[in-house]
Amino acid sequence: ALIRIFGGSELEVATNNFADDMKIGAGGFGAVYKGTLETGELVAVKKALVSGDGDNKELVNELIILTQIHHKHVVKLLGCCLETKTPLLVYEYASNGTLADHLQETLDVGYMGWDQRLTVALQSTEALSYLHCSASPPILHRDVKAANILLDDNWDAKVGDFGVSRLIPDGDEHISTAIQGTLGYLDPEYFQTLQLTDKSDVYSLGVMLVELITSLKPVDTHHRDPKFSNLALLFIHHIKEEKLEEKY
Ligand code: ATP
Repeated sequence: ALIRIFGGSELEVATNNFADDMKIGAGGFGAVYKGTLETGELVAVKKALVSGDGDNKELVNELIILTQIHHKHVVKLLGCCLETKTPLLVYEYASNGTLADHLQETLDVGYMGWDQRLTVALQSTEALSYLHCSASPPILHRDVKAANILLDDNWDAKVGDFGVSRLIPDGDEHISTAIQGTLGYLDPEYFQTLQLTDKSDVYSLGVMLVELITSLKPVDTHHRDPKFSNLALLFIHHIKEEKLEEKY
């Protein structure tokens, strides 16, 4: 089978009844828990918020997209559970967290060296290139950022969080949509035109590459000149001034 159907009780046991100390992530959508299956396999279980209108659009969207993608550098969906009040998605566990956890020196989870940064840059780019150019129909991720790059035991990158991604029907080149994405990573052209193209993902990837090089946050209003709170603007300024190698 392409994906496994899990039982509700199986996942309750795995996550110790969705215990607080098993929670590894939270967002607008709900929460992500670490779990251990009966076989000993580690998993991440995404649980939607119980919402009154039962709208679990993001989860369902992710399920539809991830059942179609199989790529070394895209997070692997193992299965889902449909018998609980809100659907649950089960993924391969990425034991080293997200790229965002490791970029800044001030974070205490470990600071990445150049080799690792280069590898992550290459692998994320490969995954995005696959989504845009080889998947059929093409897929736009729409929220490319360091917090959505998971790192496995090997420090290999896995692009995750396809909650707002879109399958682009063949021949459909001009799609207009409501703004999605994250501040600092948002392509200004998309912001102005609302025309969705693969270029917007590439812009976000570019911001992430600059993060990998500089270890600076994509947006920082506390430590930087307000004119350059946006990392992309700061980086472009340094290029224009031919000061790329100076301290930022
Ligand atoms: P966003 O809020 O950016 O839209 P999200 O909240 O919808 O994201 P994810 O980004 O998929 O959900 O997951 C939230 C967090 O849970 C991640 O930042 C990561 O820390 C953790 N997480 C998600 N999937 C996994 C996984 N497979 N292995 C380990 N940790 C994971």
